[in-house]
Amino acid sequence: MFIPVYQPKSNLIPIAVMKNDFGIEGMIVNGFFLYKDRQTKDLLTGPTSIQEYIGFEGMIMTDSGAFQGLKRPLYLSNKKIVKFQDAIGADIISPLDLISPPNDNFETASKKLASTNKRIKQALQLTENSILAGVQQGGRFMELRGKSIEALMEMQVEYIAIGSLVPFFNKKHKLDFVIKVLQQARQIAGPDIPFHVYGAGDPLEMPFIAQLGTDIFDSSSYGHYALDGWYMTPFGAIRKEQKTEFEYINCQCTYCQEAEGLSIFDQAPALAGHNLHTIIAVMEQIRHHQEQDTMTELLESIIKIHEAWFPDSLLPSTWNDFDGN
Ligand SMILES: [Zn+2]
Repeated sequence: MFIPVYQPKSNLIPIAVMKNDFGIEGMIVNGFFLYKDRQTKDLLTGPTSIQEYIGFEGMIMTDSGAFQGLKRPLYLSNKKIVKFQDAIGADIISPLDLISPPNDNFETASKKLASTNKRIKQALQLTENSILAGVQQGGRFMELRGKSIEALMEMQVEYIAIGSLVPFFNKKHKLDFVIKVLQQARQIAGPDIPFHVYGAGDPLEMPFIAQLGTDIFDSSSYGHYALDGWYMTPFGAIRKEQKTEFEYINCQCTYCQEAEGLSIFDQAPALAGHNLHTIIAVMEQIRHHQEQDTMTELLESIIKIHEAWFPDSLLPSTWNDFDGN
């Protein structure tokens, strides 16, 4: 399942279009932004549910501001933001975990993991209506990543979100660390518990990440790729200059059909619409191939086209190394 990041006041794609044209079943909203806006907070802690506020009846997940907390002090407690998310009617909520970027050393990453675990434990006790996402931390250290999943299983969380993986996604699609983390996490957690990779939003990578046992993806990528002029395809995102690749795709979405030639590259809202269409089409493809038990064939066909378009990409080699094990 893909749950797009939705920004109530500034989304490039309006909510009605998300529901009616895209058939979005769930979305993720930043709970911290709702909380820090006095008026919105009062509204939501009053009689208005988050579903009514957004105008969306599907599944709503909220996050906690943990990502914003990486850049600046939030003056926010775990307790307050968890209680808020639980009170406003979100289906899945997030603790105020501590993100470990790749440059955190072992000691720092260890301390952040210990605090994150404490906060999750506290959050589980405070949660009455929602499902709390247990977030994995541990930075670049496999030992800590493993301990993190063990602790979450001990706490009996019902949902696991893999945190701090975003900085490990890169333009060359070197997936080796992502592969190791997900493989280890599944080995420890077993096959049943839902796995969500925070912020994984490239439709090229999604089938590979799904193959590693991920069930839920969220991202604002459809919008921010569009603002930077990137046109998503199932084989990698392209720029206006890549005319041959663009023609090969011959996308049938309404945005591409209505745009003339390459003009879609210059219209961010239309490009965001196309990008979201691509992500959803890829998700449907993943579901279909999982049902038919033909994921390997899907991945092979993607790699073939991707490596022809992007000879410098490290996706084929990192994936084949993993697959050969
Ligand atoms: Zn399109």
